[in-house]
Order: sequence, then structure tokens, then C-alpha cells
Amino acid sequence: MIKLKPSVEKLQAYFVNDIPYRVKLDANEGSNYLLQDGFKIENFQPNLYPDSDSRVLREKMAVYYGCRAENIMVGNGSSEMINMVINAFCDKGEKVMSFVPSFSMYQTYCDLCGAEYIGIPSEKDFTQNIDKLIKEATENKTKIVILCNPNNPTGFMYTRTEVIKLLENVKDSLIILDEAYVDFSENSVVDLVDNYENLIVMRTLSKAFGLAGLRVGAMIAKEETIKYVWKVKVPYNINILSQYAAEQALDNIERVKSYIEGVKKLRQELSFTLRKLDFTVYESGANFIFVKAPVENLFEKLMDCGVLIRKFNYGGEVFNRITIGTKEENEILVEEIKSIMGGNQ
Ligand code: PMP
Repeated sequence: MIKLKPSVEKLQAYFVNDIPYRVKLDANEGSNYLLQDGFKIENFQPNLYPDSDSRVLREKMAVYYGCRAENIMVGNGSSEMINMVINAFCDKGEKVMSFVPSFSMYQTYCDLCGAEYIGIPSEKDFTQNIDKLIKEATENKTKIVILCNPNNPTGFMYTRTEVIKLLENVKDSLIILDEAYVDFSENSVVDLVDNYENLIVMRTLSKAFGLAGLRVGAMIAKEETIKYVWKVKVPYNINILSQYAAEQALDNIERVKSYIEGVKKLRQELSFTLRKLDFTVYESGANFIFVKAPVENLFEKLMDCGVLIRKFNYGGEVFNRITIGTKEENEILVEEIKSIMGGNQ
């Protein structure tokens, strides 16, 4: 067997659960509310490569994100672009910083290219101190700072003013604002990409559009940055079917907006219900909530009844992340939790 390079050999493969389920609340996917009846394809030519520039898709995204098509590059999910940007900018040993806990793939992408990943601990209550990040980023001569806002898995959300404070104070690092969940809050800084040449905003259709299966994400930045990063873009990275489907999804922005409002309401209702059941529920700006359950092994017990959530271990304690499902899915979740807790709640 030919050996992998040592930095890759030590990596853990991204593990995805494939156990049977009734209700799937473990991966922050949205509901199946757009395109569930399919999408139209005109003049289908699968013999040809897709539009490598995804021109039509970028123009439609530009309307939603409030920028120009020239500010956008699309990728096979925002994951592809986070990986691409880290790889394009970081040589071996250069530093990439984010808060921890956060999206685990940041560290993996750093390991892949030999960049040094530095995790800045969140506070005990999972809030994040922006001044601490500014100080550490500056003192460590960090090449890239990644801010996940709202943060996965904690749901913690910075205000725009705080994000702007980071942008104003850290000018020598590339700043990736991972806004995968920002549609569920109001704190995007996507409108500022022309003001800060070191800002790259990552967005995705996987969450608020409920289209994780299409694998379509967007990187939004100053036109010069986009042109620069285009050097490392894989040609034809969005297949023809995903381009068609995503373009048609973007013609339904009003439905997306009303879906987002629905999720926020359900997030509030589920948080309220779980707090009444003695859960600690952290404030969330995303389509999931981060909780500390009053019972042990909630993840395993729910899995036994076909309800999938996520489990995290921090500082010797167990926490769970629960995606906000449909009203019916949330009801099943709550019923199962009540029965696990003794049926007398
Ligand atoms: N960023 C964050 C914070 C995420 O949680 C995820 C998906 N779990 C992604 C990026 C990647 O999303 P996608 O590749 O589906 O666009």
C-alpha cells in the first residue's frame, strides 16, 4: 500500500451516521419545501460540460445576497470553498484561527495543507469574546481568521457591530465569515464585502433553502479576491442538474423567507418547551439549538426510538445539538423526550 502523506494519514474520516431513523434532527438540514415536485430542465445537454462560471446561478444569487455576480464564486457546498481558500492562502505552518467549539472541518482542512490550526476557547457559557479573538489573531500573526456566525454547534451569534469590530481591528489576516446559518438571524455582513478587501463571506443553499443534497454554496468577496481565488477553482465544479435546480430555487425567495420565519418561530417554541423540561437551552441564531439535557445518554436513548440528534463532549460534559424540524418532527422529539424522562412530565 502506498503511504499517504503523514499529515493526512493521522486524519479521521468525516463520519456520517447511516442508522435508520423516523426523525432526522442531527445534521442541520432544512425541510423539503422547495423543489420537492422537481424542477424544469430546458434544452438538456448532459453531453456537454456545465457552465464552469455558473453565470446564471451567480446572477440569481447576487439578487438574494444583495451584491453583484462578480462578487460571487460558487462551489460544491460551502465546504469545498472553505477548503479551497485555506489551501490557496496557507503554506505549511501558517496559522488559521477560530473559536472552539466550532465547525470541525476547519481543523481538518488545515491539517490537509499543513496549516497550524489554533482554537480559541469560547467562554464557559459558550459565548465568544471578540476582543480575545482580535488580540490572539494580531499577536499570533494569523493568516486566516474564521468566524462562524451563527456558530455551529453552539448557535452563538454576534451582532453586526461586533463583526465590524473584528473587521476594523484585524486588517492583516484574511477573515472568513462562515454564514452558513445567517439566514436564520439578521446579522450578515455580506453587504460589506466591497468595504473590506480581506473579507470573504461563505453562504450555502444547504440550510435555509433546504437543498443540502444539491451541494451548492457561495463565496462572496471583493471582485479582485474572487478573481484571485478563481485560480484554484476546480473547473465545472457545479454539475448541470444542481445549477438548474439552484437557479429555480432562487426564483422562490418569498417562500424561502417565509420558511425562515417559520423555523425561527419553531426554534422559539422548542426552546421554551425544553426549558420547561429542565433543559439548558443556549440562545441560538441558527436552525438548531444547543442544549444540556437533564437526563443522561439522551442521544443514545433517542436513537433507540428512531430520533437522531447530535452529541458533543466538552470539558467532560455532554451536550446535544438538535436541528429544528417541522412542527410534527419537533412534537415527536418532545414526546420521546418526555417518555425517556419518565412519562410524568
Ligand atoms: N459551515 C458550517 C458552519 C456548517 O455547519 C456546514 C455544514 N454542516 C458548512 C459550512 C458546509 O455546508 P455546505 O457544504 O453544505 O454548504
